[in-house]
Amino acid sequence: MRKSENHLLQRRYAMLYAKVVFGLPVEGPFDYIIPEALHKKIKVGMRVWVPFRNQRKVGYVIKVVKKTGVHKIKPILKTIDDFALLDENMLVLAKELSDYYCCSLGEAIETSLPEPLRKGKPLPVSGLDTLQDAYTPKTPSAAGLQEESGYCPILIHDLDGIKRWDIYLKEIKNTLDILKSAIIILPDKNAALKTKDRIDSIFKVPSSTIFRKGPGELVEWVKIREGKVNIVVGTRSAIFAPLKNLGLIIVDEEADQAYKQDQVPHYHLREIALMRAKIERARIILGSTAPSLESFYLTKKSKARYVFFPRDRDFPEIKILDTKNIPWNFKKRQPIISLYLEDAIRATIQARGRSLLFLNRRGFATLAACVSCGMALKCPRCSINLVYHFKDKKLTCHYCGFNMPIPQICPLCNSGYIRYSGAGTEKLESELFRIFPQAKIKMLDKDKVVDFLDGEIFISTQAILKNDRYCFDLIGILAIDNSLNRLDFRASEKTFALLCDLLKLTDKKMIIQTRFVNHHCFLSLVNKDINAFYEEELRQRRQLGFPPFKHLGLIKIRGPKEERVKVISADLFARLKKQNKSRGIKIIALNEAQPAKLRGNFYWQILIRANSVDKLSRFLKSNLKNFSHSGIIVTVDIDPV
Ligand SMILES: [Zn+2]
Ligand SMILES: [Zn+2]
Repeated sequence: MRKSENHLLQRRYAMLYAKVVFGLPVEGPFDYIIPEALHKKIKVGMRVWVPFRNQRKVGYVIKVVKKTGVHKIKPILKTIDDFALLDENMLVLAKELSDYYCCSLGEAIETSLPEPLRKGKPLPVSGLDTLQDAYTPKTPSAAGLQEESGYCPILIHDLDGIKRWDIYLKEIKNTLDILKSAIIILPDKNAALKTKDRIDSIFKVPSSTIFRKGPGELVEWVKIREGKVNIVVGTRSAIFAPLKNLGLIIVDEEADQAYKQDQVPHYHLREIALMRAKIERARIILGSTAPSLESFYLTKKSKARYVFFPRDRDFPEIKILDTKNIPWNFKKRQPIISLYLEDAIRATIQARGRSLLFLNRRGFATLAACVSCGMALKCPRCSINLVYHFKDKKLTCHYCGFNMPIPQICPLCNSGYIRYSGAGTEKLESELFRIFPQAKIKMLDKDKVVDFLDGEIFISTQAILKNDRYCFDLIGILAIDNSLNRLDFRASEKTFALLCDLLKLTDKKMIIQTRFVNHHCFLSLVNKDINAFYEEELRQRRQLGFPPFKHLGLIKIRGPKEERVKVISADLFARLKKQNKSRGIKIIALNEAQPAKLRGNFYWQILIRANSVDKLSRFLKSNLKNFSHSGIIVTVDIDPV
């Protein structure tokens, strides 16, 4: 259609246009003609089928306008539903997510939807079911409608991990009393299912669990959208549950790493929960045994209320063993257990007590290297050392699952001697069997039920830490320095959270083997002053310019060809440096990622620091908009965890 004809048509028919976005890394919006037959039907928030780049695509209408500046314009093919799938609140939330986490609005919208809906499946109707009958709304009482004014998140710092549930339950009751609904988020599916059972037995109102990609996700989603559910319990993606009349959001274990989405957009659940609570004027409670620095800082700035529950029981006696200056049993080549700890375990066995040895590394040895040429055996798909699993007689990659039989000779120099070092839990187990041949030694595993009564020494990695039922007379913490030494500005925070979780499992004795005896992680425990850790960690983060004071943007560039990834990354780095005119943004570094190779792709990364997330995200969006090279994928992670 020529330009003049287009104008003519516009005048004659009072044209309407829809601004449409897509779940793709292109910002948009894109204009489409709304056919006359759809003029009365079309609404903001609707899904439509439209032609896009020679394909039929699901698009989301974000605006209806009477004018367009676009000339070669195509019509909407058809609407998918008869109503707006997304309400205004959800669209505002998607917009905030895309502004914060540097993705397109369409990608943000699709993050909030179950997969079948993203693929264009029409929304089914749940039909009559028992839930609909079960829910009879009460008339709200005047007193019940009096809400606390103002939006103020609450952070519950609960060392025992038990008392915060009293507050949660009370808040849920208050929410139901004023006829509003609640979302409760937990880090993993098991915790969510257990919580739902508990909630159901107490409140007896329709509730729902919702998990991304779970069977029945869509069915639950529809029920929730139709207002048949008062309480939603779920993992990360449940924050997008289309509940009407939202009154309360609870995020338990708010510091858990599972709350960071590992695909694009890399959002953090806590941020999205705070956004949604603010948009919908809902109450929000963050609970944790060891809060994130982000949440703790909110309370320091009076942007959140702080509720602290100290330990009910006494602190255990905590001994920090300096591994630089203690006697080891040097008959062994690689001692894991100090003589001091060995004696403590023996004494515990004699007193008919139970010991837990914590070592956060699975397998037998974490490094398999050739003695003559020094080559470490690495995963061929990832540049990661293979871990030796004694029981399966295999070398395994803990990133991608690759495994291979143990080689008899070095693949590089054909020498016949490969040495295994870096002790994992299997090695620890064999060591314990040697030192305590009579003892009952058990490996705790999240997938395995262990008869807890029938054991004297238990070995565990992080996997069982969420299990508060266990109680030990002695906890020995080994190789915790691996956790502190990680190349990660959150290393201290994560280590401290680990220690706080372990602290819940004993009130008798804890022995920590470390080279960093004066680290604030340990000192705050020894001095029974938990907040001292947070104060010191905040001081260091402020000094070094890390979150929560400044924000980081990590651009990851990946592709199957090493040299190409390297060259393109260097090019982008130079370009960003040139484009940056703001003093609030610093393009810090260009590095090979760690690991540099993962699942067959090579990774480089660019680190950026900024005073504000908005600025950072805007800068990245405008500079990455036209950055496209075949075979190269660029993603952005804001405040990586
Ligand atoms: Zn060799
Ligand atoms: Zn691998």
